[in-house]
Order: sequence, then C-alpha cells, then structure tokens
Amino acid sequence: MPSWGAKPDLRLGSDAGLEVNRGIVVDEHLKTSDPVIWAAGDIAEYPDVILGRTRIEHVDHAQTSGATAGRSMAGSEEIYDHTPFFWSDAFEIGWEAIGRLDARLDTEVVDLGEGRYVVYYLDDKSRPVGVLLWGVWDSVDKARQILAEAPTDRAELRGRIV
Ligand SMILES: Cc1cc2nc3c(=O)[nH]c(=O)nc-3n(C[C@H](O)[C@H](O)[C@H](O)COP(=O)(O)OP(=O)(O)OC[C@H]3O[C@@H](n4cnc5c(N)ncnc54)[C@H](O)[C@@H]3O)c2cc1C
Repeated sequence: MPSWGAKPDLRLGSDAGLEVNRGIVVDEHLKTSDPVIWAAGDIAEYPDVILGRTRIEHVDHAQTSGATAGRSMAGSEEIYDHTPFFWSDAFEIGWEAIGRLDARLDTEVVDLGEGRYVVYYLDDKSRPVGVLLWGVWDSVDKARQILAEAPTDRAELRGRIV
C-alpha cells in the first residue's frame, strides 16, 4: 500500500535500539520495547482499543496519550483506552472526525441539511472505520460508539447521528 500523509522520522527511536514500525512501537501503557522509555503522540504506534494498532496525528491524541504516558511513568497501571478525534475550523466551516478517513475507502454520506453532513468511511466488509462530522457538533462520542459496534448494514448508520 502506498504511503500517504506525513512520514515520521523514527531515527531517534531506532538509534536508541527501540522497536519501530510505522512509529515507535508501544504497548497499552505507552511503554516502548525498553521498559524505561515511553512514547506518546504522533510518534507512537499504539494498540487502539477500537482501531487496532495504529499511529495517529491529532492534538487530542498528543495531549491525552502524553498525560497517560506521564502517569504511567509515575507508576500508574492504567491503559491508554482513548480513541482520539481531531477537529479543525476554517472561517465559518468546522469539522470533527474520528478513525480512518481515507479517500480510497467507500463512503456512506448522510446529508443532514443546511451544509451539515456525516460521512462514514467503510472497510471492505462495509463496516465503518472512520466518521467525519461536517458542521455537526457534540457527536464524537456517538461516532466512537458506532466505530466500536462496527455495524455491517449501511442502512443502520442513517439516523444514528442527527
Ligand atoms: C500543518 C498541520 C496542521 C495540523 N492541523 C491539525 C488540526 O487541525 N487538528 C488536529 O487535531 N491536529 C492537527 N495537526 C496535527 C497535530 O499538530 C499533531 O498531531 C500534534 O502537534 C502532535 O504533537 P506531538 O507532541 O506528538 O508532536 P510535535 O508537536 O511534533 O512535537 C514533537 C517535538 O519534538 C521535537 N523533536 C523532534 N525530534 C527531536 C529530537 N531528536 N530531540 C529533541 N526534540 C525533538 C520537535 O521539535 C517538536 O517540538 C496538524 C499538523 C500539521 C503539521
């Protein structure tokens, strides 16, 4: 599969002898292959509870995983179980999104009217793997829940977020 988007510079990790793949490989506590080194944010490839092993470039992820890694360093046993979202605004347009938004994927577009849309990105089994909320607010938790349930019936997606 061709590489899309930004490519992380992993030399700091590999030079330190850490396991690297698409990012610096960490476990559910954000601990690297060296038990005294943690990684968080853009650079970390971590096991997301919904999305599976992934690397994510979002502010929400950088902040939340950074805080979790800090607590883990201080002895917390908690796991990083937050599937992050991203947001952006451009003048009067705003959007939030969660999961895999990839133009190569099939989509199910729900037009909510007045320039508001929900776009579901579907995998090859028609399961949603990403949700774009275009001008739709306070719905990230619902979108996260839909990704966790992964319904295979596209019709089920309509009406879930209004
Ligand atoms: C143009 C652009 C637009 C974006 N827009 C959005 C958006 O709208 N919404 C959203 O959610 N996310 C957005 N992102 C992504 C978001 O900015 C990143 O996910 C987030 O900043 C990652 O934080 P981080 O702390 O993991 O990494 P970074 O912010 O990249 O911080 C890493 C730091 O490590 C330093 N560093 C690197 N190598 C070394 C080294 N060897 N030694 C010491 N220091 C080093 C770097 O200088 C940097 O300061 C955008 C990113 C870009 C580039």
